[in-house]
Amino acid sequence: MRLLLLLLLTVLAAAARACPPPFNNFRFAGNDTAALIQEAMLENGLGWTEAASHFQNPIQPWPRDSDGIVRIKYCFATPDDRQNFKILIDQAWNVWKTGIKNPGHSRGHRLIFQEFNWNPAVEWKYCYKDLAGGSTPANWNHGANLPTETIVIIGEDVGVFAQSTLGYTLPALNNAAGRHKVNIHPSAGGSGFSVPLLAHELGHVWGLLHEHQRSDRDHYVHFECSNLVGYNQARQLVEQQGQHTMDEVCTSETLGWKYNFAGPPNFSKESRKSTYHGQDYVWHVAEGPFYDVASIMHYASGHGFDASRQEGNVQNHPLTMWKGRWPGFQPPGQVTQDNSEIINLNYRVSNLDVFAVKHLYPW
Ligand SMILES: [Zn+2]
Repeated sequence: MRLLLLLLLTVLAAAARACPPPFNNFRFAGNDTAALIQEAMLENGLGWTEAASHFQNPIQPWPRDSDGIVRIKYCFATPDDRQNFKILIDQAWNVWKTGIKNPGHSRGHRLIFQEFNWNPAVEWKYCYKDLAGGSTPANWNHGANLPTETIVIIGEDVGVFAQSTLGYTLPALNNAAGRHKVNIHPSAGGSGFSVPLLAHELGHVWGLLHEHQRSDRDHYVHFECSNLVGYNQARQLVEQQGQHTMDEVCTSETLGWKYNFAGPPNFSKESRKSTYHGQDYVWHVAEGPFYDVASIMHYASGHGFDASRQEGNVQNHPLTMWKGRWPGFQPPGQVTQDNSEIINLNYRVSNLDVFAVKHLYPW
């Protein structure tokens, strides 16, 4: 399975380089840049980090129903999407559910993720009212009383394994139908690692960011940009154009997209920004007290790995963890087999992922 993962990584990572920038993806929000998390490459993936709880952010935690429960609801874009992804979505939610259990006082959270409860009289139970109109706000299934905030589950080859919008976009900033989405690559259905990768996407839907992009990550993991697939092609472009250095591209939250280099924005520690109605927002990011390599929101060493290189050698992977990781640990100058380890894909939510849900959706 690992070989398959690596093969997919290469294929999808190659495709990812042709993708539009994640915060300038106009398909999602008219002329506004959406709070969209686009995975650089196929996912693998204590503490947590999130961007939903600060009152000045453009995204917030999902709102409570009148009974106090937060029911995040989704619909499938088309019959094919339901056929292809219903089981996968159920399994991904089950990864979370196994950790957080049912909402309630004793569990300390309010979160449920479920398909929109269609009126039985409605025949066409999909996000969009017909196939011909495509996934446009104008084609939204308004007649079925489907709220515009409902998350669209849609199979699309957007060049990555999956991408999702982050948290709940305030209607005052963008109330468009279909503004919340989880895109899944059409090939995602059959493989075992699709489930944890989708569970990771659901973490973005709750409002969680990548654990390895926390401000304190360098005490725990090492990011080696030159090991990312596509680095050499990007370097050629950067040198040809002469506007930036590779150091700038590798640390930037956005510059990678300018050079068809999808990796760095998914590893950058820079502040995130987005624009709504011409106004720029710098996101206020909250971080839990502990860094968590076991988080479902943490990338594995396979993310962005260049499959032409020897796998398992810590010196070849974009992300590895220090054996001596600890708060305040001063990282050595160089990654070696003695001081570093490979980070495996996390198939479960960690204890601190559970705390993250309690933090965002407290009882
Ligand atoms: Zn992600």
